[in-house]
Amino acid sequence: MPFFCQRCGECCSLMSQIHRIEHQVSEHTFELYNVYNGERTIVRIDPDKISLYEDRSIFEQLPEACPFLRRDPNQKEIICTIHLTRPELCREFGCWRLLILDPDGNRAGRIMGSRHLGADDTSLLEFWESEVATFRTLDDDSWDRAVIQVLERRGYQVMTSETNPSCGRR
Ligand code: SF4
Ligand code: SF4
Repeated sequence: MPFFCQRCGECCSLMSQIHRIEHQVSEHTFELYNVYNGERTIVRIDPDKISLYEDRSIFEQLPEACPFLRRDPNQKEIICTIHLTRPELCREFGCWRLLILDPDGNRAGRIMGSRHLGADDTSLLEFWESEVATFRTLDDDSWDRAVIQVLERRGYQVMTSETNPSCGRR
């Protein structure tokens, strides 16, 4: 299955260090400057997110978040308010290669890069350290197969992202 974003907001929460609003073109249109690669992108607040954009309370908890990141009114999802015109960097980004869900469908962890586990749940971490550590001599394809098999046996569901991941944060 293709990469899909669970809208946790982690990857956008320090992005003010990269995305800088260079100037305001019109009321809801901005020129965004990427301080690392020099890319400039004209972005617009999505028409259905204008009132959300005006709520800046997210910066009380995440002062270094991307200037376009917002928390939705029920506080459960993190939203990119320029999703339709977001920069290429954000379109291409996918944070996981393998997504691990617990039996209730909640995110238990992500495999990022070739083998790095980002665990959301301590029981997965303990299981990982005792079981998956023994796979370290396998080549990458065999490692993936072995990891998926052992996790599924344990009751987790594992999703694999295909190439060309795209962040679906919106
Ligand atoms: S891409 Fe989505 S799921 Fe991954 S860290 Fe960013 S917001 Fe979270
Ligand atoms: S996805 Fe949106 S909120 Fe996140 S860094 Fe990119 S522009 Fe900012």
